[in-house]
Amino acid sequence: MTAVGARLVAAAADTIRTHADELTSLDRAIGDGDHGINLRRGFDAVADQSDELDAMPLGGALEKAGMTLVMKVGGASGPLYGSLLMSMGKTLGDSPVTVATLAEAFASGVEKVKARGRSDAGAKTMLDVLVPVRESLAANVDRPVPEILATVQEVADTSLEATRDMIATKGRASFLGPRSRGHLDPGARSSVLLIRAVCAVVGESE
Ligand code: ADP
Ligand code: MG
Repeated sequence: MTAVGARLVAAAADTIRTHADELTSLDRAIGDGDHGINLRRGFDAVADQSDELDAMPLGGALEKAGMTLVMKVGGASGPLYGSLLMSMGKTLGDSPVTVATLAEAFASGVEKVKARGRSDAGAKTMLDVLVPVRESLAANVDRPVPEILATVQEVADTSLEATRDMIATKGRASFLGPRSRGHLDPGARSSVLLIRAVCAVVGESE
């Protein structure tokens, strides 16, 4: 993996650690209050493999990190984020890492989350951030990288905010039905955190 890859792992683990309590309290409102704990366990385990991941090409490293998330995270979010990374890694393979190959890899990862979660945008989940971000990436792939990064983060933030008024139809929050309205989705929030962390690292490397 490149030096950028190592920084990506560190940045992802770092933002999850910093915001674990916030994620957990969002999940306490409409779920079972473990989202921050789940993701911290998973991303700490990925960070522990940093040396091993460093020695791999980005595609392989993403696959391995994804497998670690699937194994280490008990909640629904582990297999979902794990599938996202595994599919991204598989699609990226040994291709050169460019905006176009990353956008393509991300698109296949998001498809995998949909399949695994039997879900799509509109159900008040992480997909309400991941799907619009995928669309924004695909539409802007030819623009200068700083503009892509700014657009993606804006889309992510707006999409997260839009989960507040949604009624959950997937995941634990769906048990609350209309009472899930008025709260941000915890997984949509963690997706924004991870996307922002990735954008920050890519922005620094520009
Ligand atoms: P659990 O719900 O098992 O306690 P977490 O609390 O770690 O797992 O994760 C909850 C988050 O997972 C939700 O906020 C939502 O974004 C996401 N999620 C749950 N079910 C699905 C699904 N079927 N499709 C997509 N995302 C989902
Ligand atoms: Mg939970």
